[in-house]
Amino acid sequence: MSQVTEQQIIAALRTVIEPGKQRDIVSLEIVSGLVVKDGNVGFVIEVDPAVGAKMEPLRKAAEKAVYDLPGVVSVTAVLTAQKSAGSAPAPDSQPAGRSSGATAAKPLVPGVRSIVAVASGKGGVGKSTTSANLALALSTLNLRVGVLDADIYGPSQPRMLGISGRPSSPDGKILTPLEGYGVKCMSMGFLVAEDTPMIWRGPMVTSALQQMLRDVAWGELDILVVDMPPGTGDAQLSMSQQVPLTGAVIVSTPQDIALLDARKGLNMFRKVDVPVLGIVENMSTFLCPNCGHETQIFSHGGARREAEKLGVDFLGELPLDIEIRETSDSGRPIVVSNPESAHAQTYVAIARQVWDKVSIRLNSSDRQAPKIVMQ
Ligand code: ADP
Repeated sequence: MSQVTEQQIIAALRTVIEPGKQRDIVSLEIVSGLVVKDGNVGFVIEVDPAVGAKMEPLRKAAEKAVYDLPGVVSVTAVLTAQKSAGSAPAPDSQPAGRSSGATAAKPLVPGVRSIVAVASGKGGVGKSTTSANLALALSTLNLRVGVLDADIYGPSQPRMLGISGRPSSPDGKILTPLEGYGVKCMSMGFLVAEDTPMIWRGPMVTSALQQMLRDVAWGELDILVVDMPPGTGDAQLSMSQQVPLTGAVIVSTPQDIALLDARKGLNMFRKVDVPVLGIVENMSTFLCPNCGHETQIFSHGGARREAEKLGVDFLGELPLDIEIRETSDSGRPIVVSNPESAHAQTYVAIARQVWDKVSIRLNSSDRQAPKIVMQ
């Protein structure tokens, strides 16, 4: 029997309407703590305590919507009162799942509600391009977004987001991130001179990363996108362990899928208990800039099939198109320079899925952003 995917569960929960507000429970962002393990599904529905008792039919409807999906063995939906976030059952008390453990042990960055890694099995597949466009697409959804460029081998976010200069530090301790198109950005590129070959040793990576997470005035963010270094070696593994990741997105090209690099990425995140939110296939086909003809250079569709096989969601695909390259390399990624284009829309659709999956994972305490601003 095929495994139920998060995508299917979210789609099913989108059909469940909260009677008071007449909107579905996913877009209301009242579903949280989703865990899926071997067909056993658990999640929390946060309701207003004043109407809590009347919400039992809603809970039942949500359970049924998910239970009716193929591959679902059991469903446990728990109602919690929104106001008593502290007493809400943690996702960990649900059926054990790989999505629950990772964030619990690590201190979250104050004010940052979620952190998502964008990773790839190897370099040059478009990971940074995807990170930049994904971040900008998330910001079109009215989310407060940051980008942490952790690519120690080739930090490219400042260039892609059209940012130049260096971050300042008014107090000599905390850095103020720079901003491009409303997205806050900190990059390894700000800390080291571009074009300077660096040999990164483990402890240096650790301290630079910690500095970029803790010693930066990120302010209040809904989501921080981390552009990871390519590959699945020790540096990547330790980064995945150090950053309290809510989830990871894997970018891969069709040939990369064929070579199983993407699978290594998946396994790395599984090893450190970080849920993989899905796979994006980049450079899936070639769009000729002259005639518009579409050529399938590598076997297109491999990522979708591979994702299905691995039980991971397929988030979308982008062709190899000169406009994507020119815009991102010149600091005007397509999501901002040509927002009506099909490619920009694809990035927005991917961003929506990512945010659905992230918001469903935030537990009640993460949802209530701290009111105190750390200076
Ligand atoms: P990575 O971060 O995986 O090393 P980059 O995002 O830096 O890869 O992309 C490598 C090069 O490929 C860049 O010049 C980028 O503009 C280009 N590129 C990425 N995705 C596409 C695409 N879909 N179409 C055309 N060019 C692309």
